[in-house]
Amino acid sequence: MKIVALAGGVGGAKLVDGLSRLLPPEDFCVIVNTGDDFEHLSLKISPDLDTICYTLGNRDNPKTGWGLEDETWVVFKHIAELGGPDWFRLGDKDLATHLIRTHQLGQGKPLSEITRDLCTHWGVRHAVFPMCDEPVRTIVHTADGKSLGFQEYFVLLRCQPEVKFFRFTGIEDSKPVPHALRRIEESDLVILAPSNPWVSIDPILAVPGYRKLIAQKPVLAVSPLIGGKAVKGPAAKMYRELGVQPSASAVAEHYRDLLSGFIFDHVDRKELEKIEGWRIMSYVTDILMNNKVDRVRLAKEVLVFGESILSRRF
Ligand code: GDP
Repeated sequence: MKIVALAGGVGGAKLVDGLSRLLPPEDFCVIVNTGDDFEHLSLKISPDLDTICYTLGNRDNPKTGWGLEDETWVVFKHIAELGGPDWFRLGDKDLATHLIRTHQLGQGKPLSEITRDLCTHWGVRHAVFPMCDEPVRTIVHTADGKSLGFQEYFVLLRCQPEVKFFRFTGIEDSKPVPHALRRIEESDLVILAPSNPWVSIDPILAVPGYRKLIAQKPVLAVSPLIGGKAVKGPAAKMYRELGVQPSASAVAEHYRDLLSGFIFDHVDRKELEKIEGWRIMSYVTDILMNNKVDRVRLAKEVLVFGESILSRRF
């Protein structure tokens, strides 16, 4: 079974990690949100891409969910001492990634090629594609009329402003990475990882070309919400502020026109009838991934459910 996953950072990385341990590189790849990308201290930062690559390269920091393991903070400490912007923390080893990426982008190398080469150095076997090579930026429009860059909203303001809507600037001029598009064409199943639907999966689907192709494939999503709450981050808060009660069925409804199957947690079992009423096959299990064993266990269940979607055995 050939599978393509769409993912953001933290939640997506956990399931992608589990799937990568079960599937060979020719059968599995991941397309990652770059709407969260931004420039900091003139460096080009791709937070979701790095979280996925560091995780697949076994060098992620499980305590933070971002950055590298065994990190040191010498440069950051000096930047702070010099009065530089210290709200976005960059470790010394992590800085090497951003320096290389910024340098190579400046030389005209596309982000997808830079990512491929970094992955080779990190020993990542499965293909990781940025959603596009063109810069796309998620702008958070707030209830008090401000428009904030995503990292300003997410890190500096700790998701406190009330969101009104999102805009993905540059999206009209963005193009799917050709290799990623080909992998979708050849795939049997597309998986929407348990990532933030608004700001991790929606930007990928908004790159002209992906959605149309994905709509022709069986698509399965794993809920990022459990009992109406996000495991981490502002997804549930965003649903509420946008006027939708956060729940597993709200996520299924978000992706409704694409979904063949939906995986959600036992605690949300009461929503099964509603979801199946939309002709979406449901699978209820424990979707919290606290450790690597959980990741592989859930990934196995995703694959079995995926097979049954393909053969319509349910
Ligand atoms: P971000 O860009 O780093 O915020 O990454 P994502 O969008 O991929 O991840 C955020 C989402 O992942 C949140 O909505 C979380 O609820 C979800 N998430 C995190 N850990 C888990 C988990 O163990 N299980 C599930 N089902 N969702 C998770």
